[in-house]
Amino acid sequence: MKRILFAALTAAALFSDGILQSLNAQNMEIPKKVSPFPVGDKLPEQFSKYFIGQAWLAPLTDDKRLNAPVSNVTFSPGCRNNWHIHHAQKGGGQMLICVYGRGWVQLEGEPAHELKAGEVFNIPPNVKHWHGAAKDSWFQHLSLEVPGEGTSNEWLEPVTDEVYDKLP
Ligand code: MN
Repeated sequence: MKRILFAALTAAALFSDGILQSLNAQNMEIPKKVSPFPVGDKLPEQFSKYFIGQAWLAPLTDDKRLNAPVSNVTFSPGCRNNWHIHHAQKGGGQMLICVYGRGWVQLEGEPAHELKAGEVFNIPPNVKHWHGAAKDSWFQHLSLEVPGEGTSNEWLEPVTDEVYDKLP
């Protein structure tokens, strides 16, 4: 039994080393100590084209009985997504559960709001916004897609350097 446990732990250690090595191969030095949630893979092209900088995505749960998918999103320093809207006719929106580092979220017409690990930020449906890392910090948030009717995501223009660079 001990031997099986040891083998399992070794496999887990090798697996996480593999993740770190593949990240380092891309010249992105992800911190050794991030949240306990998996980092996952580089964002696929269908999403990365709406991001400035490097981000990773780890789907955590997508149980069809609940229909409320949760993913971990890891942003490199300075990385942020474009302005976008989580549309819904009823319900919907997005919950950001911050689990590592420092980041930003901004709802259209409001000042940017600083995010830190341990904070939960609710993004109402049908409100234009963006979110991402601070310029000097890695950042991770879990993203919960709140169930709703008639939901869809609309991706808009990038957050300009003029807006982002003013943030500390
Ligand atoms: Mn969003």
